[in-house]
Amino acid sequence: MIFEASRAKAVDKLNHFVENNLLEYSKLRNFDFGPHNRSNISCLSPYITHGIINELEVIDKSLKKFSFVKNEKFIQEVLWRTYWKGWLELRPNVWSDYLIELNKLRNEFKDNQNYIDAIEGKTNLECFNQWINELKKNNYLHNHARMWFASIWIFTLELPWQLGAELFMQHLYDGDPASNTLGWRWVAGIQTQGKHYLASEWNIQKFTNNRFQNIKLNENAPPKISEKTYTIIKQDFNNPQNIEEKNLLIFENSLSFEITDFKENKFKKIYIISNENENRSIKLSEKLLKFKSLLIEDQKQRLKDKSVDCEVVDISEIKNIENYYSLYPAIGENLDYLNSNNLKIDFLYRNLDQLAWQYCNKGFFNFKNYIPKIITNFN
Ligand SMILES: Cc1cc2nc3c(=O)[nH]c(=O)nc-3n(C[C@H](O)[C@H](O)[C@H](O)COP(=O)(O)OP(=O)(O)OC[C@H]3O[C@@H](n4cnc5c(N)ncnc54)[C@H](O)[C@@H]3O)c2cc1C
Repeated sequence: MIFEASRAKAVDKLNHFVENNLLEYSKLRNFDFGPHNRSNISCLSPYITHGIINELEVIDKSLKKFSFVKNEKFIQEVLWRTYWKGWLELRPNVWSDYLIELNKLRNEFKDNQNYIDAIEGKTNLECFNQWINELKKNNYLHNHARMWFASIWIFTLELPWQLGAELFMQHLYDGDPASNTLGWRWVAGIQTQGKHYLASEWNIQKFTNNRFQNIKLNENAPPKISEKTYTIIKQDFNNPQNIEEKNLLIFENSLSFEITDFKENKFKKIYIISNENENRSIKLSEKLLKFKSLLIEDQKQRLKDKSVDCEVVDISEIKNIENYYSLYPAIGENLDYLNSNNLKIDFLYRNLDQLAWQYCNKGFFNFKNYIPKIITNFN
């Protein structure tokens, strides 16, 4: 599996998927045929996570090919990401509590043999060992494999979900604080309280085309319990009425300025912010850092080609920049850095997020009802 780090390659991938594989997506999407056969899913998440292409662009392409009804499942999946993001934005303590718990657990488990065997792929479960190697080698796992992996981690290997979520963030090219943290919480049974996801032998066999045999799992474990409940913290995601000609910061979630809502606005200079491991709580693998830096370079080159004044700077240098806006980095390590350094910033929010996040107060089934409205608004 190759994820080439450029917008041109991402757009090629999108076009190829829409032309050739979108039609059968809802029928085939749950099958994990192995890393050499991924045509049944789009594999676009590493690009969408970094804003190389965005949800509306993907939905728009799909709707030019097929009607909403034929596309509904795919569109719903694309907007799951937007939903998870909004859900977390309304409950930011879920992320900060996660990092606090993670910090404690890292110490507790650093010499735990089950944990070491799991992260080294030395368990007695062949499928799990293969997935961990795939995660490290390809920096991607199929959605169903992520569910099985997380479920085995939590309920069969009996390891804390927080450490598994960290492992995913360290390696996944699409690692995203919202989709990942909430995905793991959902499998554990604390996102939708009392409802967990239990992987089972027959399900893994069926959806991997019988690639694995003799999978001994704990198929009866109860859901995990968390005493913490999170109430919504009301916030507005408003943009300034007049966007002045200041500098602009863009972070690793918005690496295609030319497709953002602000592409027509004038900015003095664009600073593309890179964030190496020194300023991250979760230290990313070398390959993931490299992928990010190539995407940043690709954005810089595209801006330079259009004669836009731009520069790549490390996050620690923001304090030396004056008079700027920032495209909103969303909850995660970059926003944490800004907050912990008391950098007060005027954020610019995407129109899609401003509209969609107001429907993230309840579950996804409620959010789904607003999808036609969201799409119509942007068409
Ligand atoms: C435990 C766990 C951890 C996860 N961690 C991440 C993560 O860190 N980053 C991430 O982007 N996704 C994460 N996901 C969601 C999902 O697995 C991936 O988005 C999907 O597998 C990406 O592959 P694709 O692009 O081929 O998806 P497709 O099936 O082709 O879907 C198209 C797009 O829809 C979105 N999407 C699809 N499924 C989901 C979903 N369940 N949740 C949110 N968005 C979705 C993605 O943007 C994806 O690119 C996680 C899921 C689980 C169960």
